[in-house]
Amino acid sequence: MAKIQMTTPLVEMDGDEMTRILWKMIKEELLLPYIDLKTEYYDLGLEHRNETNDQVTVDSAEATKKYGVAVKCATITPNAARMTEYNLKEMWKSPNGTIRAMLDGTVFRAPIIVKGIEPCVRNWEKPITLARHAYGDVYKNTEIKVPGAGKAELVFTAADGTETRELIHNFTDAGIIQGIHNTDKSISSFAHACFQYALDTKQDLWFATKDTISKKYDHNFKDIFQEIYDADYDAKFKAAGIEYFYTLIDDAVARVMKAKGGFIWACKNYDGDVMSDMVSSAFGSLAMMTSVLVSPTGVYEYEAAHGTVQRHYYKHLKGEETSTNSVATIFAWTGALRKRGELDGNAGLVQFADRLDKATVKTIEDGKMTKDLALITSLKDVTVLNSENFIKAIRETFETL
Ligand code: NAP
Ligand code: MG
Repeated sequence: MAKIQMTTPLVEMDGDEMTRILWKMIKEELLLPYIDLKTEYYDLGLEHRNETNDQVTVDSAEATKKYGVAVKCATITPNAARMTEYNLKEMWKSPNGTIRAMLDGTVFRAPIIVKGIEPCVRNWEKPITLARHAYGDVYKNTEIKVPGAGKAELVFTAADGTETRELIHNFTDAGIIQGIHNTDKSISSFAHACFQYALDTKQDLWFATKDTISKKYDHNFKDIFQEIYDADYDAKFKAAGIEYFYTLIDDAVARVMKAKGGFIWACKNYDGDVMSDMVSSAFGSLAMMTSVLVSPTGVYEYEAAHGTVQRHYYKHLKGEETSTNSVATIFAWTGALRKRGELDGNAGLVQFADRLDKATVKTIEDGKMTKDLALITSLKDVTVLNSENFIKAIRETFETL
């Protein structure tokens, strides 16, 4: 069979530890035999980030802006332990943080639904997609540990020097304070990305904050969403037969638990961080989540939602067998290849991505899976495969489709 040709390269961002091992296996077993794979390769492995003073991360984000579609392997976010382990020059920032900031994106995460891996919430029949705002709030905070009595104020100095002050608290004793911010520009991009993704995937959009308590901060999010919806999306949503609605975050949580699924839930940065872990765990596993960063200018970066699976990597280094789930990384590749195919009018590439997704799901439904899934499946007599044999089993299924 002739290999599928590509016209535009994908931006390929390699990563670290166990996921780097899976990355290579996926390419060799599932992609290269079928596609004349064109990628612009960036090595975001920690060693190379350190060698290039993290310039490689910036370059990979620039390339993503240029070509429009990237696929990213999980990467280490350095901490104190990694400084010694990798002998780092600096505690480099999270690559995901750098890339999100450069693309000004919103992260959409959805579970991969497989028969035999049932969600803990019995009424969830369809996936719930979580849209997480990826800029600001507590992730760009300034904090002070208050040592004792004193006055804390919030001060804004305008460009012309005028000051606006609000009393935060008159401390009589030790305590803590925190300053956070967001920008109307970033919130607007977040809103556009959510509305656009809802239209692309024909799903209702829910948005929730705590605007009853945060009457200016959270209320600003609510107002910006509503203004943009009214101006640009109301007619389009009606034509597509989908709905946008805003509610309080507590109400949203209660409704999500009673819902059937099949909608997008937009969350502020912190809510999205916490709720996406809750939703993915309830659907089964972080290794069964797709994750895509969508920029307001229509640039896409696909990745797995989980980390580099360090514990398994150390086992692998000791020569022990691992059973690491590659599904989310495979879906990152197929998501990127499908989007590339759509943008280039390359039907062969789109069909390939669909077929590989199907083969992956079918392999699990046929009872062949990694250990993490075997522990939670309702299927009987399953075969637990190691990391490599699971990928080989997917290839066998792919050949039969
Ligand atoms: P992790 O890599 O997601 O792994 C945490 C645990 O979850 C694993 O030990 C494993 O549990 C289970 N797990 C996760 N993915 C799995 C998979 N594909 N198959 C089977 N089990 C899986 O998180 P972490 O250990 O906290 O972080 C490791 C490194 O990843 C850190 O350096 C962190 O900075 C980085 N990280 C990167 C990203 C990203 O690039 N997107 C995201 C998060 C974390 P068992 O050990 O019980 O089997
Ligand atoms: Mg989290």
